[in-house]
Amino acid sequence: MNVFIKTYGCQMNERDSEAFAGMLVKAGHTVVWSEEEADVLLFNTCSVREQAERKAIGKIGYMKKLKAKKPDLVIGVMGCMAQRLGDKLFEELPHLDFVLGTGQLHTIVPLIESIREDRRHVANVAESAAVLTGMGSHYAPMTGSWHGQIAITRGCNRFCSYCIVPYVRGREISREIGDVLDEARMLVDQGCREIMLLGQNVAAYGLGGNVNAPAPDHSPFADLLAEMNKIEGLLRIRFTSPYPTYFNAKLIRTIAECEKVCHNIHLPLQSGSDRILKLMNRQYTRASYMEVVNNIRAALPDVTFSTDVIVGFPDETHDDFLMTRDVMNEVGFDNSFIFKYSPRPGAKSSFVEDSVPQEVKEERNQILLGDLKNRVEANLKQLVGSVQEVLVEGESPRNPDRWCGKTGNSRLIHFEPDDGIQAGTLRKVLVKRAGTVSLSGELI
Ligand code: SF4
Repeated sequence: MNVFIKTYGCQMNERDSEAFAGMLVKAGHTVVWSEEEADVLLFNTCSVREQAERKAIGKIGYMKKLKAKKPDLVIGVMGCMAQRLGDKLFEELPHLDFVLGTGQLHTIVPLIESIREDRRHVANVAESAAVLTGMGSHYAPMTGSWHGQIAITRGCNRFCSYCIVPYVRGREISREIGDVLDEARMLVDQGCREIMLLGQNVAAYGLGGNVNAPAPDHSPFADLLAEMNKIEGLLRIRFTSPYPTYFNAKLIRTIAECEKVCHNIHLPLQSGSDRILKLMNRQYTRASYMEVVNNIRAALPDVTFSTDVIVGFPDETHDDFLMTRDVMNEVGFDNSFIFKYSPRPGAKSSFVEDSVPQEVKEERNQILLGDLKNRVEANLKQLVGSVQEVLVEGESPRNPDRWCGKTGNSRLIHFEPDDGIQAGTLRKVLVKRAGTVSLSGELI
């Protein structure tokens, strides 16, 4: 069968779609890139905002026309919206064939094959630890040959008050270290040179879902990084996203000791105000967050940080906002994903009034974006004249005459390629110019 997969939302969803594709191809099916060629349409959906759900529902609704022309077409919905709404989706989308929850990723192949034979509505949103068995499948055309992603945990136990993830992705579970290492070796044998480890709370790997900060010398995630670091042929290891409280002494020391682990840490801040952090049910304070940042910086002097921040959380005052701005300037983030608060249906904060007016959220958003732009430009300017090592990624998306690569601390550099240049190799570049978001230079 020809299968078309459309993905909405985050990196975890993209990785799940790759796993779906890998399982389907292994079972003899073909992934196609247009809806018209497909026998099966799969929509891997997101619930992070109401708008994300409406977009997916609109698109799937539009597929009714295609199904009228092609009655054998199978249409399925997976991902967070499937989990959240379950069989209610059949009311709005009667031409839909199945709804598959986030805990049932591993059942996609038999489900599609059975629906082709026996047309009926199926909704399966049960949580199951067997989902871990489906997470290791790969399909290189969806991620690239030199870069691969491995999901090492699933779900989340933290219940931040604004977040829907614990309700739609289930309880936090970790894969066996042996499975993760086998998967990493398999990717490297296929030419992968950089691996991104993924998880909702990636640094909580192997802690059995315990939300308390581990002892300073206990970090199964650090043990995993140390083992990954030994894999021959692998050049770089990245990870996202870690919750700040898991950065204990062992994890920081291990990152510093493992030369393949990149020095760019994505450390979600969300707010710089202790009062708002408490309302968000984040288990750290401004001071403890800064302690983590300072400990990391002491061990990795060239580290760069990126973050997630929410502006306009219910009851956020101007002073609260200024505290966030202050922490962002103090850390000097190189990249920030700044979100204007909007309630996620079902999350705890959706039951309190969304009290900050839209224009105030927008104003706060613009202020932080302005700070970020100035800071990034200043940080990049300081690198002019330096020599940086990049992992070559390939042609620049906007100009195929130029190539690009990233430093270990995630700075993007464009350069003219030389003969024989290959993606997935490490090269040195002399930085000549700084732009607003990237650098350019010459290979040396
Ligand atoms: S840690 Fe908080 S924000 Fe992150 S996925 Fe879990 S509940 Fe959501």
